[in-house]
Amino acid sequence: MKRIDLHVHTTASDGTCRPAEVVQLAKEKGLAAIAITDHDTVSGYREAAAEGEKLGVEVIPGIEISTRYLGPVHILGYYLDVDSPVLNEVSDWLVKDRDRRNRRMVAAMRADGLDVTYEQMQERFGAVIGRPHFAKLLVEMGLAESINDAFARFVERGQKYYAARNFLPIERSIRLIREAGGVPVLAHPFQYKLEDAQLRELIELCIKNGLMGMECRYSGYDEEKVHYLLDLAREYSLLPTGGSDFHGSVKPHIQLGDGMGNLQVPYRFLTGIKAVAGMVPELEE
Ligand code: AMP
Ligand code: ZN
Ligand code: FE
Ligand code: FE
Repeated sequence: MKRIDLHVHTTASDGTCRPAEVVQLAKEKGLAAIAITDHDTVSGYREAAAEGEKLGVEVIPGIEISTRYLGPVHILGYYLDVDSPVLNEVSDWLVKDRDRRNRRMVAAMRADGLDVTYEQMQERFGAVIGRPHFAKLLVEMGLAESINDAFARFVERGQKYYAARNFLPIERSIRLIREAGGVPVLAHPFQYKLEDAQLRELIELCIKNGLMGMECRYSGYDEEKVHYLLDLAREYSLLPTGGSDFHGSVKPHIQLGDGMGNLQVPYRFLTGIKAVAGMVPELEE
């Protein structure tokens, strides 16, 4: 079976491998295709695509947009036009807002006596810095035992170095992906801790706004969870997708292409997405 991974972060957001490195890793692991789905940006795609050409790995342009519905909800997008002006405008705004949030987090750490500057962080981690980077620093400084521990005690909502950022409304996020010619997909549905009825409400709201797929295979989801999601996707006529959410060393338990050793994403999931990409109809108002 040809395997793929449709959920991958790089140094263009809070992953720790460069886009080209991620493609090299995919080649080593025998993956036929990967999608680059950085938070809020498509800026890692070109480098990955060039490496993919060289190594014979299919690279799909993608994005992961953070939104809110009761709590955090993430929308993936595939086959977007990476030169779409509206996409790039919104992406720039999201990146700037994240920057503002990050500076507040650094200020809180400095006020606490920690030796950290935003300039150092940018030099080390690149343009799109996320809380996993802050967590990694806190581990390195010996203040936390693990990334999860750093989140729980320092950078989760309510903790002392947390600062809030702004989010696109969920409707807008999905429509934006459609406007950029992409296929919007609801990411990791079990991460939101919603009851079945709430998850269905979320799915129905998303579908009204143009959702076309749902991530059914994901790191840590066992076969029971996967089958529940595959059935739900079929019920709502959503295309099933799957991916690891690989981030490199800030999420060391997740491997590219196989999350907990059981993530097997078949190439036919991509065939489904391809069938609708490029002929995505315009949304009705
Ligand atoms: P940000 O977008 O910078 O606010 O950070 C969000 C990132 O942090 C996403 O990749 C989440 O998966 C990750 N994240 C959120 N909460 C936790 C947690 N408790 N442990 C590890 N990673 C987390
Ligand atoms: Zn991330
Ligand atoms: Fe996510
Ligand atoms: Fe992700």
